[in-house]
This record gives sequence, structure tokens and C-alpha cells, in this order.
Amino acid sequence: MADFRAPQCAPIIRNMALLKILHYPDKRLNKVAKPVAVVDDRIRKLVADMAETMYSAPGVGLAATQVDVHERVIVIDVSDAHDELQVFINPEIVWESDALKEWEEGCLSVPGIYDFVERQEKVRVKALNEKGESFEIECEGLLAVCIQHEMDHLEGHVFVEYLSQLKQTRIRGKMKKLEKAL
Ligand SMILES: [Zn+2]
Repeated sequence: MADFRAPQCAPIIRNMALLKILHYPDKRLNKVAKPVAVVDDRIRKLVADMAETMYSAPGVGLAATQVDVHERVIVIDVSDAHDELQVFINPEIVWESDALKEWEEGCLSVPGIYDFVERQEKVRVKALNEKGESFEIECEGLLAVCIQHEMDHLEGHVFVEYLSQLKQTRIRGKMKKLEKAL
């Protein structure tokens, strides 16, 4: 997810690389990610690079799909100070509230576009951390929005797909202009 509040400084992370973020409507964003078989140094390097890419964008969440790696890895940091990285490998929603909540979302793959999407207000997520340890976390507020948004990416979905066809056509037009300008 894109961030509305640009951080003044990103954490200092060494030996990491910025990854190229795919932009909607790139078809590679529609690939379904495979589960991570082993959480090894390759995955930890991916996590570190994704975190650096997210902080530098700046954004509050990034799914591996967005950097053209089709494995189930997500990084999120919804803290005000941008110093609480959360890593979700092979995330699964094990419970969700009946209540829905509408939130204005953005996405690093759809720069400059923000719109309202309705999602479950609370979700409980089971995942592995970067050490390969299993954990569960109950998410609400921005974290709940963010994890559902990023898990959609792993399924090959971008948030604009929830918007009307008319809006999606307009957004594709804006993205074309943006790609030309880059
Ligand atoms: Zn996104």
C-alpha cells in the first residue's frame, strides 16, 4: 500500500537492494504466488530487499508479487515512526469479522491513485516470520486493511479491481501516461 505520510527518514539498512515495482495493469501482477517451501537465506534476502523498497517508496506494505517474485511473502509497517517491520510468509486468514469497514487505499503498483474499498474490519492471520516460526496475529485498523490488500496481491489482484469499470478504464489511461513520462 502507498503511504500518505512520507517519512522524514527511512531506517538505515545495509547490503540491500531496491527492487523494481511493477505497475498496474502489468499482467505479472495477476500471477498467483506459490507458497514458500523453506524460509532460508534466499527468502530473508528477499524480505530485506522488499523492506528497503517499501520504506524508500515510501509505502506501508509490499507483496512479493509487486516486485515480480511470485512467492507468498509480504512486508508491512504501519507504525508512525516506520520502525516496526512485520513479515508475513505464507499468510492465511484464519478468522474474519462479519463487520466491514471502508478505507481509502493506495498502492505502490498504482501510484497516485487512492479510492475507497470495503474490507473485513478485523482479521486473524496465521503466517511464518523470517525465521520460519509460525505466529498468529489479530489485525484491525490500518493493519487489517493492509494485510488484506497485500494478500490480494498474492492472489493476483490489485485493489482497483474493486472499483467500477469506468474508474478502472480511467486509471489504466492515467497509468499509460505515467509509464510514458517515466
Ligand atoms: Zn498494493
